[in-house]
Order: sequence, then C-alpha cells, then structure tokens
Amino acid sequence: MNLSRSRIIVAVATLLWVAHVAVCVSLGANSPGPFLSDLIQLVLGVLVIGSMLLAADRSEGMARAFWRLGVAAYGLWTIAQALGVYNDLARTPVVSWVTNLLFCFWFAPLAMALFLDPEHETGRIDAILVLDFVQAMLICVAAYVYFFYLPKSDTVLSHEVWAPYFGGYALVALAFVLRAIFAHSRDVRVLFGSMGLFLSLSGCVDALYYYGPGQILKTGQWFDLLWSVLLVVPMVIATAWKQAEAPVIPLEPKRAKRIYAEVSYLLYPVLVLIMSLRIAQQRLMLAALVVLLSFISSSARMLVTQSRMMLAKEALRREASRDSLTSLWNHKAILEILERELLRSERDHQPVGVIMVDVDHFKKVNDSRGHVAGDAVLRIIASGIAAMVRPYDSVGRYGGEEFLIIAPGCGLGETWELAERVRTHVASCSIMAGGAPVQVTLSLGVATGENSADLEKALSGADAALYRAKAAGRNRVEPSLGRAASAGQGTAPTAERDFWI
Ligand code: GH3
Ligand code: MG
Ligand code: MG
Repeated sequence: MNLSRSRIIVAVATLLWVAHVAVCVSLGANSPGPFLSDLIQLVLGVLVIGSMLLAADRSEGMARAFWRLGVAAYGLWTIAQALGVYNDLARTPVVSWVTNLLFCFWFAPLAMALFLDPEHETGRIDAILVLDFVQAMLICVAAYVYFFYLPKSDTVLSHEVWAPYFGGYALVALAFVLRAIFAHSRDVRVLFGSMGLFLSLSGCVDALYYYGPGQILKTGQWFDLLWSVLLVVPMVIATAWKQAEAPVIPLEPKRAKRIYAEVSYLLYPVLVLIMSLRIAQQRLMLAALVVLLSFISSSARMLVTQSRMMLAKEALRREASRDSLTSLWNHKAILEILERELLRSERDHQPVGVIMVDVDHFKKVNDSRGHVAGDAVLRIIASGIAAMVRPYDSVGRYGGEEFLIIAPGCGLGETWELAERVRTHVASCSIMAGGAPVQVTLSLGVATGENSADLEKALSGADAALYRAKAAGRNRVEPSLGRAASAGQGTAPTAERDFWI
C-alpha cells in the first residue's frame, strides 16, 4: 500500500521531469517558460515531501527522525520555491531576498541529522535533540551574518564568500559520508551514505551555478533541469528506503568509529567559531554572543551526555551484581560480601553467620506446574527469605534453587534462630499456581566463620549441614557442629501469606 503510493510518486515525478525537458526546450527563457519551469520544480518539491513522509511512516527510531528532518528541510525548500513562483509573476525585492536566503539554508534541518544517535534514539524529542537544534539555529544565525549581512549579499551570494560557502558545504557533506563509513549499523550506512552523496552532488550543481555557466543563464533555460534532477534524486532515495529487519549493533564498536562519532558533534560548534572569527572583525559583540551561546549549548550537551553515562554505568554496575530472576545478590556478589564480612569479623572479633538454603523437591514444582510457574515460585521464596532477615544481613542466589544468607555478628545459635525463622516463614506461605496450591519447604545448613581464612570452611560447613538436613527428612535446619535439628517435617504450618501465580 505504502510502497505502491511511493511508486506512483516516482512515476509522476518522472512524467514531470519529461514535461520539464519539453518546457525548457520549447519555451526556454521566453514567457511562460520560467513560470512553468519553477512551477514544475515546486510540484516536485511537494512530491519529495510526500515520499519522505511515507519513508518516515515505514521507519522507526532514528530513521523516522531522519526522514522527518528531511520533511522539514524540503518544507523550507518548497516555501522558497513557492515564493520564487510568486516572484515570476510579480517581482518584489523583499521576496527575492527571502527566497535566496531560504535556498541557501534550507538543508539546515537535514544537516541536523548528523546529530542523530542510532543507539540511543528513541524516536521522541529529548534534551539532546533540543540542544542540537539550538546549535543548528546558531549556525544559521552565524551563516546569515557571515554570508549575507556583512558582505551585503542581495539576491545572490556575494563573490567574496563563495569559497567559504562551498568549503562549509563540503565539510557538512563530508561529515555525512564519514558518518556512513564509520557507522555501526546498515541503516545508518544507507541513510547517511546516500544523503552524503546527494549533498555532494547538490553542492557540485550549486558550484556549477556560481562558478560555471549557471549565473549567465536565465530561469527556464537548461540549467533548471539540473535543479529538478536534484529533486528527483532524494525522492528516489526516500522511495527506495527500507529499514533493516533488526539493527545489528556490535557490542564493541571499533575505536576509530567511536572517536569519530564523538568528534563529529564538534563539527557545528567549530563552524560557528570559524564564522565568528570573521564576524568579530566587524561586529565583536555579536560574534562574542554567538560563540558564547554555542559554547553554552555544547557544554550543556556534554553535561547531559555525562550524566546519562553515569546513570548507565550505575545501572550496569547494579545489574552486574544482581540476579536477574530474583533481584537478590548473584553468586559472585554474595561471595564477595561474605569475604568482606569475614575480613571485618577478623577486626571486630565478631562471628559471621552463614546459612545455605535449598528448596525441597523443587524439581517436582517444575515438573508439575512448568518452568514459568517454577520461576514465579522461586521469586516468592526469594522475597520471603529477604523479608525475614535483618537490614544488615545479605541474601544471594547461590545456584538454581539455592540461596546463601550472610548474617554479620551472629554466632551459631543466633544464625540457627534466623534460619529457623526463614524456614517457618516460607513453609507457612500458601502459593496458588494455576488454581492448585503448591507447598514449598526449605532445608537449611548453618555455619559460622571468624576470619578471612574461614571462607571455604564456613561454606563447606553450611553445605555439609544442608546435606544432613536433606538426609534427615528436609524442611529443617541443621547446624554445622551437629546441634539438634529443629522440629521440622510433621508440624503442619498454618498458611500465613497467600500468593497466586
Ligand atoms: P531436593 O529436595 O533434593 O533439593 O530436590 P530438588 O528437586 O529441589 O533438587 P534437584 O537438584 O534434583 O533439582 C533442582 C531443580 O531446580 C531442578 C531445576 O530444574 C530447578 N531449577 C534450578 N534453577 C531454576 C530456575 O531458575 N527456574 C526454575 N523454574 N527451576 C529451576
Ligand atoms: Mg532442592
Ligand atoms: Mg539444589
């Protein structure tokens, strides 16, 4: 549906171009040749907007933002062209001045695409995009002063600024091509590569206009055909655009690519600075103001990026030490906590309680209710254990359905009491899975450690005690030194909390 509409647009554009050739050949600069030539280009401009809107429709994320910027750019171009058509009918100096200005800077929104970040782009407007927009506006202001206001350019660019104009244009086109070369994803390569080549082509036609025969030719003559080719090209690019099914982003981008992606954001502030150096020769305060605003905008961008990076780093750090299913400490983290607590106990002369917990007959839960319900039961058990310990105790998922509790300052008796509290609490939970109750019990092994050398001993002591609790009938606590087992199995717990899965 969407694609066939795109094909219609290209077919109409081709017919319009053929009509344009006919107008240029038959009428040339004779009336109504210039008017018809400008009118055909205006319709082509509207078609470019249509094709880019359709491309945005079929895209998501960064590509959607890219095409929307394209729509904004060609929107400006179309306004300029409409004013040009008006000018053909009733020439007004103000209108020609505005038309020329818009023709020089219509691609500024498209150039903003350089700032789009495929890895973080969510498709919505965020602080970074707003700051980039401010930077793009500043470059327009600086460019206006530099290219028009100071050299007193009227309807065409003053000769003295031709070279810097094309220099700046080439830099932006080059930035697009480089962005494509250094891109991680196929989508970015296609979008920026084709736009980079198009901008280069457009720059060449512009240069041909100023330096070549363009300026002595009148509207309606053959040069107009080049302008309409420049409208058909982006239309074809937008029509041919198809987003990749799944973006492939390498986990570890190459260093050169990373550096380019970071440095490319400096392109616009640097261009603003270069133009301001020249502006400062005549308007010092104005140049200072533009540079200051550009500096504030770049600094704010840097601060926002920095703070996002810090948040991401913190989230990664948290994720790296947490178990994804239960949100408890993971195996590595809980062992590090035990190591740290044993070191502290050495200094404080306080024991550290270690409890190894294993869910009884958990395989049966999986077998009878399925793994998804099994996961949910594990989460409930984990939160049940976490609710029973003191704030300064730590609970981690040691293995599949095994947990480790570290209780600083607890001797064997206190650790045993804590383990017993956990056991009775979990045993008293009534969990409903798929309409039928699931009763889970725990077996727990208790040990203590008193210095950093006790890590292995405390773990194997708790493990051996757990093994004995299993052997003695499960749903019980066993201390590592052979203390009496709790009254386990047989005492039917009363349901204290209910869970439905
Ligand atoms: P025992 O009382 O002897 O401990 O019996 P058990 O069935 O609990 O012990 P076993 O070691 O035979 O089985 C442990 C089961 O725990 C098998 C495994 O599928 C399940 N399990 C381990 N990790 C997970 C998990 O992340 N999710 C689910 N749903 N099940 C898990
Ligand atoms: Mg088990
Ligand atoms: Mg087990």
